[in-house]
Amino acid sequence: MFDKILIANRGEIALRVIRACREMGIASVAVHSTADSDAMHVRMADESICIGPASSTDSYLNKAAIISACEITGAQAVHPGYGFLSENEAFAQALQDHGLTFIGPSAEHIRIMGDKITAKETAKALGIPVVPGSEGGVASYEDAIGVAEAIGFPIIIKATAGGGGRGMKVAKNQAELEIAFRTARSEAKNAFGNDEVYIEKYLQTPRHIEIQVFGDGKGNAVHLGERDCSLQRRHQKVFEEAPGPAISPELRAKIGKICADAVAKINYIGAGTVEFLYENGEFFFIEMNTRLQVEHPVTEAIFGVDLVREQIRVAAGMGMSFTQDELEINGHAIEVRINAEKLPNFLPCPGKVRTFHAPGGLGVRMDSAIYGGYSIPPYYDSLIGKLIVHGRDRPEALARLKRALGELIIDGIDTTVPLFHALLAEPDVQSGDYNIHWLEKWLETQFAPK
Ligand code: ADP
Repeated sequence: MFDKILIANRGEIALRVIRACREMGIASVAVHSTADSDAMHVRMADESICIGPASSTDSYLNKAAIISACEITGAQAVHPGYGFLSENEAFAQALQDHGLTFIGPSAEHIRIMGDKITAKETAKALGIPVVPGSEGGVASYEDAIGVAEAIGFPIIIKATAGGGGRGMKVAKNQAELEIAFRTARSEAKNAFGNDEVYIEKYLQTPRHIEIQVFGDGKGNAVHLGERDCSLQRRHQKVFEEAPGPAISPELRAKIGKICADAVAKINYIGAGTVEFLYENGEFFFIEMNTRLQVEHPVTEAIFGVDLVREQIRVAAGMGMSFTQDELEINGHAIEVRINAEKLPNFLPCPGKVRTFHAPGGLGVRMDSAIYGGYSIPPYYDSLIGKLIVHGRDRPEALARLKRALGELIIDGIDTTVPLFHALLAEPDVQSGDYNIHWLEKWLETQFAPK
């Protein structure tokens, strides 16, 4: 087992990893930018080291500075959290070349799944059902017409290098196709430096269902059921729950086994998420994330496992501490993402937190790195906390979420908390009857910018 781990991240996820290290008796090293000297992860880690200026390109994405920080502090392994370098193949490889361990999958698996076309081809070859669409990339508008006619409108054009809900364009008919195709390509080029795009059937009423998988790198893998992350704004998740209200135990066992068998076959190591759209009883693969997800705590809550601890164990060459048969679902969990954003336009509003009071009590978990007096810097993601609740069943989890949101105090800045108060009053949210388009439509009618 490692003696010391460096955490190449900030915010709540850095705290999350420090907590796992501490419980395992492993020393932790925080890295930070000059804008984050006062950040909680710096205060909480056993050691800290400044790796560059505020801009994340020069700090949290600065591979050489992070590797130097490992050498200076004697850290043997790096946990990348999510975002930043967590799905960066070159970083995983560079660590290995320096005799350091990347707590995550191999550079090769990151590469395969990081390119969405290759990921889809790989998934298909491993027996995972995929969304109907083009075979590989679509190079010209003429080819796009051919694909669209074969699968039927509406279609969605996606960047193979895409991520974070960006680089997607929908065309409802041929008249919209040309402009959608050309804008998708130029946006992909600008955002990701790669203009390769592919086409999929645009599903009209799917749910976003993702399967948590975990492998030991030695051909063994398990699944930890699904998360329903259908409540999305601009293709970004805001509310996640497990188990999924629309998924039966039989369906879970079936799709879970397909995913676990697939990752076992490629000797996958660590945590991974196989993302699907789910419509009319059918699953359609969209992508695989080769890292810990923001919403992993809902899975932890219902299975009673610590996924970061497991990531560290398998990275150190140990086995997983559970088998598929030992994994049993207990109750229901919901997570809401709290952002420093002003409603109704969701404009980022960093600033000074005057007072912070986290809710508590049975079944309540607040993962956040803010504190009273802390100034949220304007340079990074606006996620400032995740409130996770766990109950015996879905109604209890919903009641607990309402209660916990009522106790939460974040003064001095605007947050997305009022959105969740409003959502909890909605019959569709109460009954779990929503799909990936529900929130956008609801925002237009109920939360429209004035
Ligand atoms: P990213 O990597 O940018 O998150 P994904 O491929 O995971 O992109 O898709 C993000 C979201 O975009 C999905 O959860 C869904 O809401 C929407 N989406 C993606 N593909 C389709 C599709 N074929 N039909 C309808 N919606 C889609």
